[in-house]
Amino acid sequence: NKELIITKEDNPIYTIYIENNYNKLSSVIDKLQLEHGKALIVTDSNIGIHYAQEVKSIVNQSIPFVEILTLEPGEANKNIETIQKIYHTLISYQFDRKDILIALGGGVVGDMTGFAAATYLRGIRFIQLPTSLLAMVDSSIGGKTGVDYLSYKNMVGAFHQPSAVYINLQVLNTLPEREYYSGFGEIIKHGLIKDKSYYRWLKSNSSSILSRENESLTEMIYRSCSIKKQVVESDPHENGERALLNFGHTVGHSIEKQLNFSYLHGECVSLGIVAAAQLSYEHGNLSIDELEDIKETLKQFKLPVCLSNVSFSSKIIAQTTRNDKKMEAGQIKFILLHSIGAAYIDKTITEQEIESAVQLIL
Ligand code: NAD
Ligand code: ZN
Repeated sequence: NKELIITKEDNPIYTIYIENNYNKLSSVIDKLQLEHGKALIVTDSNIGIHYAQEVKSIVNQSIPFVEILTLEPGEANKNIETIQKIYHTLISYQFDRKDILIALGGGVVGDMTGFAAATYLRGIRFIQLPTSLLAMVDSSIGGKTGVDYLSYKNMVGAFHQPSAVYINLQVLNTLPEREYYSGFGEIIKHGLIKDKSYYRWLKSNSSSILSRENESLTEMIYRSCSIKKQVVESDPHENGERALLNFGHTVGHSIEKQLNFSYLHGECVSLGIVAAAQLSYEHGNLSIDELEDIKETLKQFKLPVCLSNVSFSSKIIAQTTRNDKKMEAGQIKFILLHSIGAAYIDKTITEQEIESAVQLIL
């Protein structure tokens, strides 16, 4: 059992609990002093079927009124229509400012529940109970919430911090294998941008991690959450340091779009990491051994390092990086590595250079 406290200007904002069950959830909720409040658990049908009743009865120990709203799973439902469903449910149960939302799910449920909480009555509290590996180490921390709009990902949203993040590692047992592996895109990224010893630890513990052994999982999630904590605390609104978390994402997002989201996010990030590592090598910082090592590690964690038989060109990938949100004065902010564990923002990378790096993964 481990805990991390997210702070802002040295004041505690919320705690991340890493546990093996939901037993302590009731005492976490007690601390929020909701005695006469209500709670709405928002989940999706894949997750709700396993855990919604259990979570409801635990929350009920602290709050008498608890309801469950089960959404359709998947990114395709991460939109304004689903947010309206959440609003309608909150209105029908007369939720007010002292009441709380509980996101029980992956990043899709977390982002939408957070956005509904950010906007309903100009903001009510919410708790994150992340159930996917990606949500545990990434999306549940940092306060970014939102939905996709038209064909733009995360186009509409708000920063809204959760009141607590409670991770129950046991729920990973029902997470499908491909979703589990996809989480390693972000986890390996954490080591690459900030912490070489963590990166090495991941490599040498890959077999116990891949078989979801409890002790390794606890250590891994704790270390990844610590890195995410460190980055978001130093830059809560993404002006500087937080951009480092975009390592592998510039090219990754373009590929995700070109593949019409048929590949999972972490899989596209893996491909983006290979391209970014190649550029890091060409710019003279990363060594060829490190470059090869990164590709080996991604493969070790069952992630793709190249695509075959694709219907799009490296040129189109390079062009779409221009539409990425992470632009400044027409110049793309590309995250590169000086070496493993040391990332930096590079504003000199040209579209041409991106194109040739992408050629190596197609
Ligand atoms: P997801 O929420 O769609 O979950 C993946 C799949 O696994 C879904 O089908 C879900 O129903 C299922 N699932 C999740 N946990 C399960 C469990 N324990 N048992 C069985 N099935 C389970 O996707 P995700 O990968 O968790 O999150 C991706 C989303 O997160 C994207 O929309 C992305 O934009 C967002 N995101 C947000 C942030 C942020 O900072 N807010 C960061 C990264 C990603
Ligand atoms: Zn990501």
